[in-house]
Amino acid sequence: MSSELSKIWLSSPHMGGQEQEFVNKAFEENWIAPLGPNVNGFESDLKEYIDQDKEVAVLSSGTAAIHLALVQLGVKAGDEVICQSFTFSGSANPIMYQGATPVFVDSEPQTWNICPKALEKAIKDRISKGKRPKAIIPVHLYGMPYMVDEVHEVASKYNIPIVEDAAESLGSTYKSKSCGTFGEFAALSFNGNKIITTSGGGALVSNNKASKEKTVFYSTQARDQAPHYQHSEIGFNYRMSNISAGIGRGQMLVLDKHVALRREMHQFYETIFSEIDGVEVLTEPSDDYFSNHWLSAITIDPIKTNGIDREQMRLHLETHNIESRPLWKPMHLQPVFAHMPYYGGKVAEELFERGLCLPSGSNLNDKDRKRIKEAILEVFKN
Ligand SMILES: *Cc1c(COP(=O)(O)O)cnc(C)c1O
Repeated sequence: MSSELSKIWLSSPHMGGQEQEFVNKAFEENWIAPLGPNVNGFESDLKEYIDQDKEVAVLSSGTAAIHLALVQLGVKAGDEVICQSFTFSGSANPIMYQGATPVFVDSEPQTWNICPKALEKAIKDRISKGKRPKAIIPVHLYGMPYMVDEVHEVASKYNIPIVEDAAESLGSTYKSKSCGTFGEFAALSFNGNKIITTSGGGALVSNNKASKEKTVFYSTQARDQAPHYQHSEIGFNYRMSNISAGIGRGQMLVLDKHVALRREMHQFYETIFSEIDGVEVLTEPSDDYFSNHWLSAITIDPIKTNGIDREQMRLHLETHNIESRPLWKPMHLQPVFAHMPYYGGKVAEELFERGLCLPSGSNLNDKDRKRIKEAILEVFKN
């Protein structure tokens, strides 16, 4: 019976309506290339949205953005880069592309992001081993800003640049400043499941025009100034196409609406779980933090729920054709990274064991919410 009901997804693309006009224009003008008016337009829209003083280069993915940040920071084979362990592999893979070693750091329990204390321990220990980290990659996971002041204080104390992974946090702010504006570099993502999407894509935010030009240079195969093709450096094919950027321009028109709707989903879960012991919804620790609540995430403590755990909840929702997903499995527990250095305790590990992401899309309606609520209450009824 329930299988006849349409699937409720965790986070699915949500078009605003005007995306196709920008794409059609690209066809009419024959700008079907990794350059053109939509590329420039999307970049200036993003710049205006996050901070006029920043520079933005749009790319083929968020992962590519992190990679080009590391390239510009001179990360090379044998170097070390610190990375939040509790994240998606896209944060850490670019460290490996450069032949460098990721050093993973645990989270703190308030924002679930990199713990400033564990971070400082890691830096001190790596320096004592003769390995000064080349960069730090903290993440605003699920849209929740990390402890910006505390993390950046540690980073500046040791003079290590920050590459902010803001892939999930477009529309989030910390002390009224946009996420994606705090680091030396910041990466945004417009993958299909993110708060706005270009089907696939990303952007690298930097502090000045020279750095943006470098990003564009590396993302278009590092061509020297010459009438022929000449190369003095290794480049990448990472630039965003004018078609994707057209979708992006349309999505920028509805970004604030998407943030408001995702925040409503978070409030919806807050209300449901305020009545249920042992379930916590990830929420801003103070007014300094404003999350876009890209994904609403909960933790379940089976000791307080008569043994109901996150897996039971996930499987129950699945029988109602409702998608949910365990929180990110920390990088230091991934088979591919198991032999890399790690600093911290079991915060991230416990989040993974107890946590679940719930349907959070800006395109969910009252009927969807009713189904979700009934399914959740059913789990806790017995
Ligand atoms: C999505 C994501 C990325 C990578 O972005 P892509 O555009 O998918 O390459 C990196 N970090 C985090 C935390 C993400 O969620």
